Amino acid sequence: MSLNLWFDGRIGPQDQLAAPLTTHAMHYGTAVFEGIRSYATPDGAAVFRLPEHLERMRKGAEAFGARFDVVEAAAAVIAVLQSNQHRDAYVRPLLWYGTGSLGLDVAPLSRHLMVASMPWKPHLGDKPVRLTVSPFRRNRAEALPPLKLSGAYVNSILAKREAGSRGFDDALFMDDAGFVVECTGVNVFLVKGGQVVAVEHPDALPGITRDTIVELAGAASRPVTLEELLEADEVFLTGTSAEVMPVAALDRRAYGATPVANELRARYLRVVRGGSPAHTHWLTSV
Ligand code: PMP
Repeated sequence: MSLNLWFDGRIGPQDQLAAPLTTHAMHYGTAVFEGIRSYATPDGAAVFRLPEHLERMRKGAEAFGARFDVVEAAAAVIAVLQSNQHRDAYVRPLLWYGTGSLGLDVAPLSRHLMVASMPWKPHLGDKPVRLTVSPFRRNRAEALPPLKLSGAYVNSILAKREAGSRGFDDALFMDDAGFVVECTGVNVFLVKGGQVVAVEHPDALPGITRDTIVELAGAASRPVTLEELLEADEVFLTGTSAEVMPVAALDRRAYGATPVANELRARYLRVVRGGSPAHTHWLTSV
C-alpha cells in the first residue's frame, strides 16, 4: 500500500507525487530537512520535541532565504501521521528550491514543502556500534553552518561509505586540533568516573537528542579530545533515529559494559513513550 505524503498543502499517495528533473535542489542540494520521531504512547501517537525540530528547520531555511512557516509545517506533520495512521514512525519534512533557473541566485525559484512519514526502522541497528576515526573532516561551520542543509550531507555520506569499506558501522569526525566533532548522523557522549559529558564542537549539529540527554543526565557539555574519548569508561551516541546507542569499540579500543549508557537509553525510551510525567511537555499529540 502506498504511503501518503503532504506536498504543498495537499495529501496524496507518494507514488503519484513528483518533482521536475530541473529541480534546483536536485542539482545543488538547496534544501533543508528534519528527522523527527513519533512514538506510540498510552494516549496515542505523539511527536517528540516537534517545536524544536521545526525551529532548527526554520533556521536552515533562513540560511538560504527560503520562507518557512512553522505553524504550517507542524500541521502538515500531524496531518500526514494521521493520514498514514502511523504511531511509531519516522517523519521527514523537506523544504526545497524547485524550478525557475539553474543559476545560483535563488530569488527566481519556486519553493516547496513536503512531509513524509514512514513506519519506524532502527537507524544503526540494535547492536552496539563500532566506530572508526574518519580520514574526512567535517564541514566547517564557517563553510556550511551545522544545520540540516541537504547538500551538507554529502560530507556525511562520503565518511560513512569510507568507514563501511573498512568494516565499521560509522565514522567519527575529528578536527585538525584533535578535538572530537560528531559522527555522520549522531552526537557523541562519554562517561568517565560516573560523569556524563556531551561533546561540544562548533562544527557539530546541535542535536535535539543531545539536548534531551544533557537535561536528563545533568551532563556537562564541553570540548573533548580523541585521547579523552579513548580513555573514557563508556562512549555513546545520540540522535533522533539512533536514540541512545552505546559504542562497542573505537578503532582498536574496545569498551566494556555500558551501564550508564544503557540506563540513559532506558530513561530516554520511557520519556519519548510518554512514561515520564515530568517530560510530557516534550510530546505533541497526533
Ligand atoms: N549530527 C548530525 C550530522 C545529524 O544528522 C543528526 C541527526 N539529526 C544529529 C547529529 C543528531 O541530532 P538530533 O538528535 O537532533 O537528531
